[in-house]
Amino acid sequence: MKMTDIDILSDRKRQINKAGTEGLAMECEKHSLAGAVSQRACVFCGSRVVLYPVTDALHLIHGPIGCAAYTWDIRGALSSGPQLHRMSFSTDLREMDVIHGGENKLYKSLIELIDKYNPKAAFVYSTCVVGVIGDDVASVCARVKREKGIPVIAVHSEGFKGSKKDGYKAACDALLNLVGTLPVDTIPRLSVNILGDFNIAGESWIIKNYYEKMGIRVVSTITGDARVKDIMQAHGASLNIVQCSGSMTWLAQQMESNYGIPYIRASYFGIEDTAKALYDVADFFDDPELTDRARKLVRCEVEKVIPQIKRYSEALRGKKAAVYVGGAFKAFSLIKSLRMLNMDTVVVGSQTGNKSDYEVLKAMCNKGTIIVDDANTLELARFILEKDVDLFIGGVKERPIAYKLGVGFCDHNHERKIALAGFEGMVNFSREVFNTVTSPVWKFVPRRQTKKEVYFD
Ligand code: SF4
Repeated sequence: MKMTDIDILSDRKRQINKAGTEGLAMECEKHSLAGAVSQRACVFCGSRVVLYPVTDALHLIHGPIGCAAYTWDIRGALSSGPQLHRMSFSTDLREMDVIHGGENKLYKSLIELIDKYNPKAAFVYSTCVVGVIGDDVASVCARVKREKGIPVIAVHSEGFKGSKKDGYKAACDALLNLVGTLPVDTIPRLSVNILGDFNIAGESWIIKNYYEKMGIRVVSTITGDARVKDIMQAHGASLNIVQCSGSMTWLAQQMESNYGIPYIRASYFGIEDTAKALYDVADFFDDPELTDRARKLVRCEVEKVIPQIKRYSEALRGKKAAVYVGGAFKAFSLIKSLRMLNMDTVVVGSQTGNKSDYEVLKAMCNKGTIIVDDANTLELARFILEKDVDLFIGGVKERPIAYKLGVGFCDHNHERKIALAGFEGMVNFSREVFNTVTSPVWKFVPRRQTKKEVYFD
């Protein structure tokens, strides 16, 4: 069977749409279809990626060792100090623990680890097997908290009870145990929290630097290079800036209702969106001097980077891209960034987008662009071939799809080592796209040499 002939499973048909088609509502925010092999991760993994960059906390995975190995050092989230987050502790539950329960093992592990590493807080993640055997993780955490005098927080993240997005909510609920627990008397009015930037390759530092240049104090970055103490004081900031909306909107909403802190959405991918984020924050504070500082900063940065980007965009004119990322908000920025590089996005999808996200995508994409929710490997491969793309932007699970089909790839997910946020990040992004798309290696891909179809057996 030709790869491009592979049919879409009937239960998935309404999760795939095309820009330019009227009246067809996109189906999304549903559980993955059994048997379709989603590119999404489990609830536990979702909570782990969000909490992972709390660098001075202990992260203990209550479950079989495989869950811990699966998420070990999962993000390239850098720390300017403690490195405790990079350890992947596990209670390593075995057959006998499944029969007799793992609470005792959990208690002993927590005590031993807290004594050894002296963390500022501990997160205990529940995995599938813990959900099945019914260990009372919360009561063990409460006991250790009393005995050790640090926050010990149960993360209700049994893998099977939903998808990655449910894990984001479990992580936000865990963080809400910390927020509001320290005094905030010394925090100035011009202050923000950055929510949903995970300091991949140092990106939180780039963004923080912009705000500090504007005269705004960043109280906490939740969770990029995060510290427990900063999260405890996060309720003292005047504004929450939500970058990864899929993971952090719940936390921002809860902080708004509990502490009256408003929030705005922002993206720091691409020149247009980075500038917009800085201006939106300046507008929020309604301070002419702050707006002036924002303008000067943007002008200076744009003047530096535009000539560098131009070199790449001229060579990339007319090339086609497929984008498949976790959250749809990142996809918006990528489409705009690719346009700046003279490239056309012909396939775009997300793992956790909602109805309004997909409406925006439909409106901003060119007619005929394939829009897909919760895709699987076969669908992605089919669309890449159908549209004959030159570049695939995704994460670690998508990389082999691109390379096997002989297509350039750009990692825009957890594992990358190059900062892609901010103005300087746009230069890095342009260079990476240019290098992969124009690599001479693609000349040797049989499909490109002979224009042969790819077959699936
Ligand atoms: S699905 Fe369950 S067993 Fe698999 S990694 Fe997630 S929590 Fe662990």
